[in-house]
Amino acid sequence: MLNQTYEPLHICDVKRAVTLVLMQKASVVLTADHLYLHSVSQAFPVPSVIRIHQYIHVQHWEAVLNKTNIFRRDNYTCQYCGAHGVPLTIDHVIPKVRGGGDTWGNLVTACVDCNNRKGNHLPEEVGFKLRNQPRKPHKIHTMQRFTAAPIEEWRPYLFLD
Ligand SMILES: [Zn+2]
Repeated sequence: MLNQTYEPLHICDVKRAVTLVLMQKASVVLTADHLYLHSVSQAFPVPSVIRIHQYIHVQHWEAVLNKTNIFRRDNYTCQYCGAHGVPLTIDHVIPKVRGGGDTWGNLVTACVDCNNRKGNHLPEEVGFKLRNQPRKPHKIHTMQRFTAAPIEEWRPYLFLD
């Protein structure tokens, strides 16, 4: 769902999108390929991107710093070895005992092995390299991640092209 100004607002299901369009609160920007909603006598193309008619003032969105959101940001992948689908922990890049804080920039997802090997060292001291620079997620990144692979046609609207 796009704001009146075409900035992405959020992701809604098809039912809500169709309802907004039928209520003339939004227009269809893009339809999904080969997908139709059928009534008794008609077939409507399924909306994939809609734009609402009235500008919605968006409140400042802040990601909450917690374990789940760090795992999510890091795609449930160890940021040192790339392991996925293994038990995960949160690692302080700069260990707490060396002054590292509980911040988006200092907390990363690590598998149990890497966390144990790293201990109270800096990554470079044990030959580890971060796969991604940890930072605070923004709403647009969250939406980009959510839609990364499956919905190609959304890419231009999420500034991925
Ligand atoms: Zn690892």
